[in-house]
Amino acid sequence: MNSILVPRETRPGETRVPMLPESVRKLAGLGARLRVETGIGRSLYIEDAEYAEAGAEVVTDLAAAMAEADLVLRLNKPAGPEGLRPGSLHLSFLDPFVDLENVRRFAAAGVSAVSMEMIPRSTIAQKMDALSSQASLAGYSAVIAACARLQRSLPMMMTPAGTLAPCRVFVIGAGVAGLQAIATAKRLGARVEAFDTRPVVEEQVQSLGAKFLKIDLGETGQTAGGYAKELSDAQLEIQREAMGKAVARANIVITTAKLFGRPAPRLLTAAQVAAMRPGSVVVDMATAGGGNVEGSRPDEDRVVGGVTIIGDTNLEGRVPYDASQMYGSNLANFVEHFWNKADRVFELRRDDEILAGALITHAGEVVHPLIKEKVG
Ligand code: NAD
Repeated sequence: MNSILVPRETRPGETRVPMLPESVRKLAGLGARLRVETGIGRSLYIEDAEYAEAGAEVVTDLAAAMAEADLVLRLNKPAGPEGLRPGSLHLSFLDPFVDLENVRRFAAAGVSAVSMEMIPRSTIAQKMDALSSQASLAGYSAVIAACARLQRSLPMMMTPAGTLAPCRVFVIGAGVAGLQAIATAKRLGARVEAFDTRPVVEEQVQSLGAKFLKIDLGETGQTAGGYAKELSDAQLEIQREAMGKAVARANIVITTAKLFGRPAPRLLTAAQVAAMRPGSVVVDMATAGGGNVEGSRPDEDRVVGGVTIIGDTNLEGRVPYDASQMYGSNLANFVEHFWNKADRVFELRRDDEILAGALITHAGEVVHPLIKEKVG
């Protein structure tokens, strides 16, 4: 397997591209036959010529290139496996817990599908961890998006005309996105508070100069993979109650709590949003998974009782150059990990732990145990 194709992204409204020329250069340097679809970098004003200069062949006939490609590298989930060669490998976000029909179709087409969201969160796989690379930028963008809607400035300002008090930002869920949101809000001069159900996070929050809200929820903990465990309804009720004051005094609330493979927990009720000062802003970073905030909607900004609720599912797409750079690098690092440098070919090593975690379909079957269970 030596021929790699990177098609142009087609999802409406997508600002990111799957790969920048710098990652193309890296893959071409491995000895891969690399092709990109014409127009691949258009949303970032990157010309075809820059991809060609980095070592890619620019193709206009996508169908012909797909039929020949051993590996197809994409960003967003494709509509299906149509046009891919049986035995080829496809890498992209795949939403495999939700879009089971697509998973079935990839299996039936005999295409091996790697889901970028399933790359294990291990030290060795860090450089391929697209969830983390995109989440960091999304956390940054959440603060910037909130500031753009807030009617106030974040830092304290002492001027001859008077003193402006610093704004308060409350971040709920201090994982990859949340920590970056905290760091960004601190840099902008806000007073930041944060909460997470994983107690290990307290120190990380404090090291960024933010205050950790302590709530006794009893046993919470995290999974072996570092993810939060689902709270009981009673625990969630205690959490919402205890967060009430922090929410009410915040100018900006950013919620980032996801539960991998399950619907997001409901952290803010409509009544809590109503209790916020008009002019405040809530960013719900979990709208794609059902939302943390009652009343939020995917990809909508809503104003409810004077409070703006931002539900953008592609916050990382607000900094598309950096997001594309990181995502393309994640893809290239994945390919490099499985590259046989002597023979200059990609090797699908089924015993590799990263592949075992992220390979969803192979040789006509759904092979990932968790997804297989769901597909039935
Ligand atoms: P995520 O996007 O699934 O969730 C975001 C945060 O929400 C998490 O910190 C989670 O604990 C928190 N959360 C869940 N339910 C909550 C609730 N009811 N109230 C408040 N917070 C809640 O998680 P993520 O950011 O992708 O990753 C979480 C953690 O996984 C990281 O902080 C890290 O420890 C681990 N991780 C490890 C690696 C690695 O080792 N390579 C890479 C990425 C992440």
